[in-house]
Amino acid sequence: MDDDEEASRRTFELLANETRLGIISTLGEASGEGGYATLAFSDLQAATGVEDNGHFNYHLTKLVGEFIEEREGGYALTLAGIRAYQAIVAYRVTPEVEIEPFEFPHKESCVQCGGTIVARYTDGRFITECEECGTEELNYPVSVADFDPNDPESLLDAATRRMIRDESSMYNGVCPYCAGRVVWTVELPEGHWEESNLRGDAMAHGACTRCAWFLYGNVVGKIRHHPAISDFLSRHGYDPWTDPPWEEQYDFDHQVLDDDPVRVEVSYLADGECLEVTVDSDLVVLNYDIRLIEE
Ligand SMILES: [Zn+2]
Ligand SMILES: [Zn+2]
Repeated sequence: MDDDEEASRRTFELLANETRLGIISTLGEASGEGGYATLAFSDLQAATGVEDNGHFNYHLTKLVGEFIEEREGGYALTLAGIRAYQAIVAYRVTPEVEIEPFEFPHKESCVQCGGTIVARYTDGRFITECEECGTEELNYPVSVADFDPNDPESLLDAATRRMIRDESSMYNGVCPYCAGRVVWTVELPEGHWEESNLRGDAMAHGACTRCAWFLYGNVVGKIRHHPAISDFLSRHGYDPWTDPPWEEQYDFDHQVLDDDPVRVEVSYLADGECLEVTVDSDLVVLNYDIRLIEE
């Protein structure tokens, strides 16, 4: 076992106890607008709901130093304690939530068969797919806590927020889940166009070097948080920082200029203007230019 494994084994051992998780949750739940809470021993014990002094003190002592620190006035979460509380909240066991397929009018019909696109929620994922042939378009995790299961529109809002956050963070090289470094590569898979509804044949793959979380999709969509591109799109009525990723109000095109070294030119067209962007194999924007389109 190396040092990293030893450290994470210790972390999970410390957290694998109901009383200790309860103490961390209590301090997290007591926090709010004024910042993270500091609770006196007796208040913390009462709020955690443990009656036995010795039992409570034993578990609190185990957490002190790593997840909890003693301060003037009582006990507070350390940074690791805050992270643990965030993980508890994010992965809290929730009842099975399913949303039956409902019409998703935001996308054109299925590229494969012309069928109707529907959206649904299952196994913690927001999915859009063709009702007829089943071809999947979007598939993204959305937390149950972020929407109202009785209101499908709220699922679309939650998916929008989550996808924009993740895409912009990943594009900027930071994993939204573990804060690890993200590396992007541009791939030119042959035949991808035939196999899926993803538009275009230059694909961008961004992967976290620490936790392996990844995003995969057409280059056109994956670079829209570049300042020059988001400025251009915002000026023409589509804001990549707030508008749903599937409501692209612009025309786009792209062509592979070269495959060694990789050079892909992406064009965004709107209101008689064309923004041309060239990216390399690491999805780095090498240059961009706006020109007027002659009718
Ligand atoms: Zn279809
Ligand atoms: Zn990560």
